[in-house]
Amino acid sequence: MHAISPESHAIVDDVLEYTRRRALWEDIPLDTPVPPEELARLAPMSITPGGIGAQNALALFSEVLAPTCLSTDHPGYLSFIPSAPTKAATAFDLVVSASSIYGGSWLEGAGAVHAENEVLAWLASELGLPGGAGGVFVQGGTIGNLSALVAARDAARRSRTERGLPQPTRWKVVSSVESHSSIASAANVMDIDVVDIRPGDDGRLHGDAVAEALAAHGDAVFAVVATAGTTNFGIIDDLAGIADVTRRHGTWLHVDGAYGLAGALVPAMREAYAGIEHADSLIVDPHKWLFAPFDACALIYRDPQVALRAHTQQADYLDTLADTPLPNPSDLAVQLTRRARGLPLWFSLATYGTDEYRTAIAHGITLAARIADEIERRPALSLVRRPQLSVVVLRREGWEAADYDAWSARLLASQLAFVVPSSHQGEPVLRLAIINPLTTFELLCEVLDTLA
Ligand SMILES: *Cc1c(COP(=O)(O)O)cnc(C)c1O
Repeated sequence: MHAISPESHAIVDDVLEYTRRRALWEDIPLDTPVPPEELARLAPMSITPGGIGAQNALALFSEVLAPTCLSTDHPGYLSFIPSAPTKAATAFDLVVSASSIYGGSWLEGAGAVHAENEVLAWLASELGLPGGAGGVFVQGGTIGNLSALVAARDAARRSRTERGLPQPTRWKVVSSVESHSSIASAANVMDIDVVDIRPGDDGRLHGDAVAEALAAHGDAVFAVVATAGTTNFGIIDDLAGIADVTRRHGTWLHVDGAYGLAGALVPAMREAYAGIEHADSLIVDPHKWLFAPFDACALIYRDPQVALRAHTQQADYLDTLADTPLPNPSDLAVQLTRRARGLPLWFSLATYGTDEYRTAIAHGITLAARIADEIERRPALSLVRRPQLSVVVLRREGWEAADYDAWSARLLASQLAFVVPSSHQGEPVLRLAIINPLTTFELLCEVLDTLA
């Protein structure tokens, strides 16, 4: 054995001390983005033949680079989908790094895979999936959606082959025009077509529209994608109605709940997700509304064997890993080497218990409803629609795109909040996504005050 050098001790101590300060910061600055030219000036080449040393590199990060990265866990970060990892999840992310766990196989990462699987099994049972359901934590919803659709197409191909039927010239996936851009991206990667269908007037995709699409496109359709919480509005499709149709046609149902499926953990919301129990695959991102750090998507299959057949990589050097009673996580998605990225969520759930999670998710839903009421009370503002989950979309009467842009820049400069303009049917709007339990009604009212 060799001793760990004093230099290594100092590096680890300094980095952990910085981490400790950042993780426990009371007043997290929102921070400000900086254009590339300015960064080139502020942070010139730090990669040199001799190295600049940990202290200099850490100082460069903490004083120059970090302040140009927005803190997505700031209570005023309301754009896109914010992040709000629990202290337990953040702290445990360090443990995952320090433990050098290879999370791809049972042979190498048994205990980690076991703990991750416990979380996946809990989620699956909350959503009413059968006991055999399982999956893997992948990088994000985009990879989760792609992996699920690859498994679905593989199942459809095999089924055709077994029945002696020819393969269609183009495979198709049916989804709502309101579905996330990652569905189109997956279709592009897979070289398949997307059959875009319109949601009803209530913004939700319904079974009858899906039935029409299936009738029109026949069995070239290998999957239907429903969304449980659209990113733009937080709308949950009519999962029960859609599932009726997919089950009748024997078509794979994938539910994209990257943002919104966390809402199903709130008992009062459960009814809105009726039908989720029929999903053949689903995703939910812990880095969105399950209070875990970037990056993690829980990808769950009704029957993991189907995913295994689609995704297992074959190579001589991997043969020794194949002999396991339960699937290796690597073999359930588009990936091989993987971080045990479900462990921060596992540790956080184990620490706080599931009740605290339900309460924290409910906070976002309750707050969205309260601020929606407040918006309706203010004459200069109006809601684009009532929120169902924790996304509130509003307009400022009389404002054009340039007004919204200027306001957004002023708001960020004031460091109160980060809200980027969005658009709906060509109209510029504002979108507040509420995830963080530290985001308060008072803070949101202060933001609305700046729209006066
Ligand atoms: C965010 C989101 C995705 C993509 O997830 P990433 O983790 O960003 O890759 C997919 N679908 C929906 C509905 C989302 O909100």
